[in-house]
Formats: sequence, C-alpha cells, structure tokens
Amino acid sequence: RAKELGRNNYQLYTESMNQKVLQRLDIENSLRRAIEKEEFVLFYQPQIDIKTGKIVGFEALLRWYHPDYGLMPPMEFIPVAEDSGLIVVIGEWVLETACRQNKKWIECGLEPHLISVNLSARQFQRSNIVEVIDRIRSSTGLAPELLELEITESTAMQDLSFTIDVLNQLRKKGIRVSLDDFGTGYSSLNYLRQLPIDTLKIDKSFVQDIRANSKEEAIAKTVISLAHKLDLTVVAEGVETKEQLLFLKKEKCDKAQGYLFSKPLPAEEIEKMLRDKKCFVIGEEVDN
Ligand code: C2E
Ligand code: MG
Ligand code: MG
Ligand code: MG
Repeated sequence: RAKELGRNNYQLYTESMNQKVLQRLDIENSLRRAIEKEEFVLFYQPQIDIKTGKIVGFEALLRWYHPDYGLMPPMEFIPVAEDSGLIVVIGEWVLETACRQNKKWIECGLEPHLISVNLSARQFQRSNIVEVIDRIRSSTGLAPELLELEITESTAMQDLSFTIDVLNQLRKKGIRVSLDDFGTGYSSLNYLRQLPIDTLKIDKSFVQDIRANSKEEAIAKTVISLAHKLDLTVVAEGVETKEQLLFLKKEKCDKAQGYLFSKPLPAEEIEKMLRDKKCFVIGEEVDN
C-alpha cells in the first residue's frame, strides 16, 4: 500500500514537473513570435520631481498580451526570455520603441522628458552592447541626453571591469545610467564608489516599509544622503502613500515614481498628461 502511494506521489510529481516544462516551452515558442505578431506593448510610468511636482521622465515597462493567457506580467516571461536568449531581440525592440516614442512626443511639440529603459543582464553582457544601443538611439533621432538606461545591482556586479568600461562608453556618448533596485543585491560600497552612474533607484521594498523609526526609514535616509554625497540623483520607486512622499521630500530625495502618482500607462494616456502639463503637489493634483 505504502509502495503504491509512493509510486503515485512520484507520478504526480513528474507529471507536474512535465507540465511546468511544457508550459515554459509553450511560453518560449509564443515569445519567439510575439514581436512579429505585435503582441508587445510598452507602458510608461511617470517620474516626478519631488521639489516641483512636475513630471520629469518616464520608465518604459514591457507588457505582453499573450494570445491564450492574456496580459502577462514581465516577471513571468522575462526570465524565460533571458534563459532562451530571446531577451536580446526583445530588448532591442523595447529600446527602439521607447526612443521612437519619446522622439515622437517631442516632435508633437511637447516638452522633452527623460525616458528610462531597463536592460537585462544577458542583454547588457553582450560584447557589442554599446554599438547596438548607439545604433538604435541614433536611428530614432532621440538626443542621447534624453535616454537613461537602468541596470540592476546584480547585473552590474557580474563582471565589474566590463560594466565600468561599458558604462563609461555610454556616458561618453551622453546617455545616462541608473542603478535599479538598489538595496536588494549586494549593495557593496566598494563597487558603488567605482561605478560610473548618474542615478540610483531605491528599491520599492524599502520605500513601502518606511515608517517612523523603522529600519527601512533609516536605510532610506542613509541611501539618499550617501547618493547625494556621491553626486547621484536619487529616485524612489514604488511610492504609494502621501506619508512616504512627505518623508522622501523631507529627506531631499530627488524623484519619485509610484502608484501615488500614476500606474504605468499606454502611450496615448501619457500624451494626454503631457498636453495637460499635469503637475502633482505632495500627492494632490493641481491644475496648471
Ligand atoms: P523595475 O524596473 O524595478 O520596474 C518597477 C516595477 O515596479 C514595475 O513593475 C512597476 O509597474 C512597479 N511599480 C511601480 N510603482 C509601483 C507602486 O507604487 N507599487 C507597486 N507595488 N509596484 C510599482 P513591472 O512593470 O511589473 O515590471 C517588473 C520588472 O520587470 C521591472 O522592475 C524590470 O525588472 C522588469 N522589466 C519590465 N520591463 C522590462 C523591459 O523592457 N526589459 C527588461 N529587461 N526588464 C523589464
Ligand atoms: Mg527599472
Ligand atoms: Mg526598479
Ligand atoms: Mg524593482
């Protein structure tokens, strides 16, 4: 009896393993065709200057409308895209689409804003990454100063001398660099000191747990003042409440991004915001 049960359990186990493998293969196959089938869309989330309440930039965030599963969150398919190498073409599509969109807004007569684009580890580690970025950026005609690239701490850490070299080349071309999800990786002060970056993004896990006298409050305060001493711009991500914003304002954090202001939105809705010159004051909208 026990033996039988054991065998059944084993069978169940392998069946669910198989299912996982099959689902992954299925995602990989449909990912392969997603670009040509135009299933990808970029959403844009505003970044707000905490001093003025003005929108100063946007982060481009990838969305996939899967034909069977519907809207798929990036965390579910980006790891598959990384493992299969598909992230390279997807990443190029993202970069081109974001640069082109930003250029289009400017051509419409809207005020220029910074656009931030996420680079994945595998995409960043390609030997020709600087040429690829430069070629795509210049083909869209977007000024390099209006493009910012986000890499995570763990991407930056994988090969420090390669990272420093690539970031130096990008910045020499006028492109800005941001260190994403700061605080979730190794956060070594030794490499922070060496990395040629412009911006530091405090991870939302710290921002969301900010409470008076909490450890997160102490960490956020320290990261903001450290970043300023290193001459970096600080962005807080995942800002959801007025209390969090007031704290960030008090600590002189430069920019904020989060649901308090806006969720990531399709380009058309962002365009409306820009036309209206939408402005925020400590979480409250004011008419301009
Ligand atoms: P990330 O780069 O750290 O992006 C911020 C994430 O936080 C986004 O999730 C955004 O929607 C979410 N977020 C913003 N404000 C709030 C808030 O107030 N509360 C909460 N709970 N969440 C907030 P999203 O769009 O699901 O993207 C998740 C991650 O997927 C990104 O994290 C990034 O690592 C990756 N990703 C997204 N688009 C791309 C892309 O085009 N290329 C690459 N390589 N990675 C991407
Ligand atoms: Mg990011
Ligand atoms: Mg982030
Ligand atoms: Mg994050």
